[in-house]
Amino acid sequence: MFDNLSERLNRTLKNLKGQGRLTEANISDALRDVRRALLEADVALAVVKSFINKVQARAIGQEVSTSLNPGQAFIKIVKDELTMVMGEQASPLNFKVEPPAVIMMAGLQGAGKTTSVGKLAKWLVEREKKKVMVVSADVYRPAAIKQLETLAAQVGVEFFPSSADQDPIEIARNARIEARKKFIDVLILDTAGRLHIDEEMMGEIQRLHQAIEPTETLFVVDAMTGQDAANTAKAFNDALALTGVILTKTDGDARGGAALSIREITGKPIKFLGAGEKTDALEPFHPERMAGRILGMGDVLSLIEEAEAKIDRTQAEKFAKKLQKSGEFDLEDFLEQLQQINRMGGISGMLGKLPGMGQLKGQVDNDRAEKEFKRLAAIIHSMTPNERRFPAVIKGSRKRRIAGGSGTSVQEVNKLLKQFGEMQKMMKKVSKGGMKNMMRGLAGKLPPGLGGGLPPGMR
Ligand code: GDP
Ligand code: MG
Repeated sequence: MFDNLSERLNRTLKNLKGQGRLTEANISDALRDVRRALLEADVALAVVKSFINKVQARAIGQEVSTSLNPGQAFIKIVKDELTMVMGEQASPLNFKVEPPAVIMMAGLQGAGKTTSVGKLAKWLVEREKKKVMVVSADVYRPAAIKQLETLAAQVGVEFFPSSADQDPIEIARNARIEARKKFIDVLILDTAGRLHIDEEMMGEIQRLHQAIEPTETLFVVDAMTGQDAANTAKAFNDALALTGVILTKTDGDARGGAALSIREITGKPIKFLGAGEKTDALEPFHPERMAGRILGMGDVLSLIEEAEAKIDRTQAEKFAKKLQKSGEFDLEDFLEQLQQINRMGGISGMLGKLPGMGQLKGQVDNDRAEKEFKRLAAIIHSMTPNERRFPAVIKGSRKRRIAGGSGTSVQEVNKLLKQFGEMQKMMKKVSKGGMKNMMRGLAGKLPPGLGGGLPPGMR
C-alpha cells in the first residue's frame, strides 16, 4: 500500500527541498503535485480538498518563511497534516469493562472478518496476554463456522461451537455466558456479511449489536476498495456506531485511498492493519508512524516492536553466548538466523520500515525469498545432526543423499555450503569486530532474492 503515493510525494518534496527559498509559485506547484498524487491514490475528493487547504494555509504562513530550511519546514507540515487525516494518535482497544470484553466484527463478505478474528485473537494472546474465546454467528455458511474453528485451533484460543440452525443472538449470548464461566478476558464475535449493503443484513446486524452491546465494534474493510471503503464504513457506522476499523489486504497493491479517507469520512479510527493471509499479519495502526512511512522517513518504532515480539529472545541470547565463547557457528544456527529474518516479514517487510529505504522494498522478491528459505531449510533438515555440527564431513556421497532427501540438486547443496562457509567466516569476525562488521557482512552473504536490494551503505 502507498507505494505509488509515497514515490510521487517523495519526488515532489525532494524538488522543493532543493530550493533555497519558497515562493508562492513553487509552493503552489508542489501543492498541485501533492493534490494529484492523493487523487491518484484514490483518496476521497473532500478529504483531498481539506488537506490541501490546511497545508496551503500553513505553508504561506510564518512557519515556513521564517524557517532556516523552508523545504524541510514544508515537509513537516505535510507530515503533520497526513498524521491528522489518519487520526493523529493511535486508538487502542478498550478493555476497561467487566470481563469478558466483547469485540464484534462487521463488514461485507470477503472483507477479511474471519481471518481478522484469528489474527486479532493471536495478537491479544501474545501481545496483551489476554485469555481469548472466539465464536461465529455466521449461520448462513456452515463453512464459515468451520473456518473459524480451524483458525482458533491454529492460534490456540478457545472456540465456542455454533451451527447453521441457531439464532445469531442466541449464539452470542450463550458464548458470553460460557466466556464468563471460563474467566475469558476477550470474546471475539464473527458475523455474517453480504456482498453488498442491503437492508435485511443491516437490520440483522443491528439487532445483534443491540442485544450484545459489544465493547468494541470493529468494521473490517478491504483496502483494495479505495475510497469506497470509507463510504461502506459510513453506512455501517450510521447503523451500528462503530468503535474502529480494521483495514485488510494492505499487503496488496492498494493505493492507500482507504487509509487516508476513512477517518475523515466516518470520524472513526483505524485500529489495525491486516497485511497478509497468515495469522501474524496484523499490526496496530499508528497515524504518525504511517505518515512517516508514506514520506519515506521509515517507521523504526514499529520495526523494533515487531523484533521484540517475533524474535525468540532465549534463542538469540543462547546464540550470542555461544558465538562469544567459541566464535563457532554451525548449520543449525544458520537455519535459526534465516528463520528469524523470515518471521520479521522477510527483508522487504523490514526495509519498508527503515528510513529512506521504503523505495527499495519493491526490489526484493518476497515470494522468491520465501521459496529460498524453504529450500535451504529442506536441505539442512536432510542432514544428520553430526553433519549440521561439522559440515566439513559433507562430501560426495553425503551430498547426493542430502540432495535426494531434500528434493534439490548437488549444486544447490554446494551453494548452501559455500554461503554457509562465508557466513561462518563473517561470524568469526563478529566475535572480534562487533555489530558493524556483522551488518556489513550480512548484506553480502544473504541468499539470493534477499540481499540484492540492500543499498551500498548496508552492504
Ligand atoms: P470474511 O468473509 O469477511 O470473513 O473474509 P475472510 O476472512 O474469509 O477472508 C476472505 C479472503 O481474504 C481470504 O482468502 C483471506 O485469506 C483473505 N484475506 C483476509 N485478510 C487479508 C490480508 O490482510 N491480506 C491478504 N493478502 N489477504 C487477506
Ligand atoms: Mg467470514
